[in-house]
Amino acid sequence: MQKCVGGVMTVALWASMVQADTTDTGKWSGSDALGETIQLASADLAVSLRPVPRPSIEALQVSAAAAARFQVWLSAFQDRARQQGISQRTLSQVFSDITFDEDIIARDRNQAEFSKPIWTYLDSAVSDTRLSNGRAAMQRHRQVLKQIEAEYGVEKEVVTAIWGLETSFGSYRGSSRTLRSLATLAFDARRAQFFETQLIAALQIVQAGDVSAANMLGSWAGAMGHTQFMPTSYLDHAVDFDGDGRRDIWSDDPTDALASAASYLAQHGWTKGQPWGVEVRLPAGFDYASARRDFTRMPSEWAAQGVVGTDGNAVPDHGRAAILLPAGGQGVALMIFDNFSVIEAYNGADAYVIGIGHLSDRLAGGVSFQSNWPRADRVLSFSEKKELQTRLTEAGFDTKGIDGRTGPNTINAVRAYQLAQGLRPDGYPTVKLLDRLR
Ligand code: CA
Repeated sequence: MQKCVGGVMTVALWASMVQADTTDTGKWSGSDALGETIQLASADLAVSLRPVPRPSIEALQVSAAAAARFQVWLSAFQDRARQQGISQRTLSQVFSDITFDEDIIARDRNQAEFSKPIWTYLDSAVSDTRLSNGRAAMQRHRQVLKQIEAEYGVEKEVVTAIWGLETSFGSYRGSSRTLRSLATLAFDARRAQFFETQLIAALQIVQAGDVSAANMLGSWAGAMGHTQFMPTSYLDHAVDFDGDGRRDIWSDDPTDALASAASYLAQHGWTKGQPWGVEVRLPAGFDYASARRDFTRMPSEWAAQGVVGTDGNAVPDHGRAAILLPAGGQGVALMIFDNFSVIEAYNGADAYVIGIGHLSDRLAGGVSFQSNWPRADRVLSFSEKKELQTRLTEAGFDTKGIDGRTGPNTINAVRAYQLAQGLRPDGYPTVKLLDRLR
């Protein structure tokens, strides 16, 4: 799936770009996305008073050269677009006045250093403000959400939670011109192929008449509308739920966008009535090596091992489940079901999936997590994660790549190292663990 990156919600695309870039699956990319989300959630309050320096002559020369290269690229790109069925008429409409957007490249380059702990993400994702806005949004759109739930079998709270994290219920849909953003990113060599595919898809959408080029707005990284679909996801999954002949995810009316998000989850195998995850208590002497995504059991089997819900009772048998410890042995413990993986298809970051899941539970009247997060602990920075991966790999615990992100391969390497050192094998990389490796 194409997920969205950047600007107004990020998580979706960012994770897939991370995946495209790296051997690890970018599990932890949510922390990156997080920074953006938090920033955007308070965008109306955050007015920088810092003076903007005048660009140097040198910078202007660089930018003139880049603009010239962009025009050369654009001309060659249009040949490729024509070969893929984009008409000259569409190309002329879209590209007649298009320029390269330097800010986007700068933002794209800058986002990798964000490193926020999951609890900071969840504080924002499931804040009191978002909860009350979410309840109001559900009330306002209750009729259409009910119809969407009936049609796609995805609970209204889950659809609303996606809407809430992607764009704060439509408040921050982004005002970047998607075609300009994608052209800039496709021109930039870093992930050119990914964004060129998205740009072609965006042109197909305009050509089909679902939206005008001028109204095709979204995040700086090409994610569009209320639920921040990338163009290829739009082509594959967007639906015209209100029946007006257009799949409109951009306008103020969120109907098509909400139905499209539900359609997306349904097509990825959403099971109605199954939780995404349930907070659990682990018994004393819990075998931490069994807390891994590829080790699943029925909740009754977990209960036989002493893994129970926060009320002390066995979790109902909703299906096979794994134990996930987002902050290692110190924080919340979750029993996660197949629906967790379905939300991952929207965005692969654990923080995002847990944010969606927990927000939906709270919107449905559920309680906050009962356990505390290890808030006093600093989390590793991006460069420290890379150092950790380098040192683990050198020590014989292969992380299968050095990308600064804590994906399953890195978690497994951490766990193997912990076992070898006689430490609790929770797979969670801490500052202390890095110090030990040093
Ligand atoms: Ca429509």
